[in-house]
Amino acid sequence: MGIDKLNVRRIIHYGWPQSLEAYYQEAGRAGRDGKLADCILYANLSRVPTLLPNRRSEDQTKQAYKMLSDCFRYGMNTSCCRAKILVEYFGEDFGYGKCLLCDACVDGPPDMQNLKEEAKIFLQVISAYNVQSNFTDGSYDDGINSDKIRHKFMEKPNLKMFVSIIRDQSQKFLATDLIWWQGLARIMENKGYIREGDEKVHVQIKFPEVTKLGLEFLQSETEESFNVYPEADMLLSTKKSKCHSSFSEWGKGWADPEIRRQRLERSFNNRQPRKQRKPRKKRKWSRKFNPESSTVRGRLSAKLSKKK
Ligand SMILES: [Zn+2]
Repeated sequence: MGIDKLNVRRIIHYGWPQSLEAYYQEAGRAGRDGKLADCILYANLSRVPTLLPNRRSEDQTKQAYKMLSDCFRYGMNTSCCRAKILVEYFGEDFGYGKCLLCDACVDGPPDMQNLKEEAKIFLQVISAYNVQSNFTDGSYDDGINSDKIRHKFMEKPNLKMFVSIIRDQSQKFLATDLIWWQGLARIMENKGYIREGDEKVHVQIKFPEVTKLGLEFLQSETEESFNVYPEADMLLSTKKSKCHSSFSEWGKGWADPEIRRQRLERSFNNRQPRKQRKPRKKRKWSRKFNPESSTVRGRLSAKLSKKK
């Protein structure tokens, strides 16, 4: 854009940047005079960003997805200083623990949560499917019919499918939505418990597979809790009022007596007390009331008689 002003004090970035490189460059247009400046990023936390169309080779596409994914993770981070992430991303040593200026430093990280039960059920469901194995690698171009049918029924299960299995299995997680599990999947991936199951790079893990480390975690029987900082999308998911994304889910909820009782109780408590209606005032007819004034003809004749 060629803006070369020294005293730009604030950059507002609307929408996910395509990479941290792009974000850094854009943010860097502020504060060239060496004084403090802000950069605010507005991004939709409930939607995984996509690549802008461009001509790219396969390698370039892979690289572009990796960069977009890094950027997405930077945005979802809630616990680590943003300046530190950026500086280290570009291969330099930050040297301080915190910048004390970014939102993560100023607001502080969210409360840690013990997500052991969630993490275990997540790994359990994925590993159950991984064991069935023999899933093909998702290349659909081998032209043999019987194989195509096999592919159809043995398609690689994706994160969305795993989440719906978890929600089917456990009433407790019925109201936990996909974006919350996406956040947990990133945390699990960062810890090395799951990895991407296909050859491609995705912004958000798509075909999770349990790693050896993940299996060890799953099988361990220690009492140790699994404390993590919830990521931005997880916080968003638990903050927004639970809406029911599909009719089937809504129906499922009502069929459960406990959920039905809770919902009815909630709607009963939320009900506004009815306002007492004021009794209608009786219309006072003026003393001069002339029954004829209620019709056009009557009013006309009254006027004419006045003129006389
Ligand atoms: Zn900071």
